Amino acid sequence: MSGPVTAADAPPTVAEAGRPDHACVEITDSHEARVGEFTVRRALPRRGRRTVGAWCFADHMGPATVTEDQGLDVGPHPHIGLQTVTWLIDGQVLHRDSLGSEQVIEPGQLNLMTAGHGIAHSEEATGHYRGRLEGIQLWVAQPGRTRHGDGAFEHHGELPRAELAGGVATVLLGEFADERSPARCDTPLVGVDLDLYGPAALPLRADWEYALIVLEGALGIGGQRLAPGRLGYLGEDRTELALDVREPCRAVLLGGAPFGEPVLMWWNFVARTREEIDDAYRSWRDQDERFGQVRSPLPRIPARPPSWH
Ligand code: MN
Repeated sequence: MSGPVTAADAPPTVAEAGRPDHACVEITDSHEARVGEFTVRRALPRRGRRTVGAWCFADHMGPATVTEDQGLDVGPHPHIGLQTVTWLIDGQVLHRDSLGSEQVIEPGQLNLMTAGHGIAHSEEATGHYRGRLEGIQLWVAQPGRTRHGDGAFEHHGELPRAELAGGVATVLLGEFADERSPARCDTPLVGVDLDLYGPAALPLRADWEYALIVLEGALGIGGQRLAPGRLGYLGEDRTELALDVREPCRAVLLGGAPFGEPVLMWWNFVARTREEIDDAYRSWRDQDERFGQVRSPLPRIPARPPSWH
């Protein structure tokens, strides 16, 4: 749940500056990537759609089986210019970071790490949990206003929930159905877990774009079926989204105001220019002060030179 840990995972990309489509249902396949000991299904970024609001990365990981001492096992690695949002639907993971945070996360809880100018973290086995592990890790691109700022870490043990006709919505970030998450939000966006058992109608904002990722089960949107391993991009211009749910389904709704800044992504870095990425790469390679130290038993993950070298 850490983002790409090989250079090949994240070719340098600049977000398309154009306006998102109007209301649509564009379903695209995720691609498989390796993160630590896990194979993940990466729904974002993808060609032609680098961001949904400020959401710029989405890895559905698991289900897989972990033990007390063998889990996700993503060793210390750096980030800049983004927030990592970790959400589990099964299992437990231990987060450690260079601020000294050490936090086990369980289903229903939120880990939100802000990289700003630089932070490093690891994702590890807990030392006590054994069993199934499944979840999603998302990245939010930070705006110019905060992306050079300090790193930070938040853990939220409880999040607001809204009852829907066909299930329950848990608000991870932002506001949805009159419920507001306490988590930090640097740009107008929303992230919602949907635990559905029947047809539902989601209240949306017409001036935001949205996408859905199904983690378990399946749902129908406008006659199209959305199942795990795919991204359903919905465009904007909707005040309500009808979901045809005929089996238990777990999904994540991502939305936000179209992100106005061109984003350059490389490895675990979200920036604007190659020079910024080069600086971060050198700092991690040279182990200078920028990213600090993570007290982890796992080996640190070496950076590969950016592709333009
Ligand atoms: Mn990470």
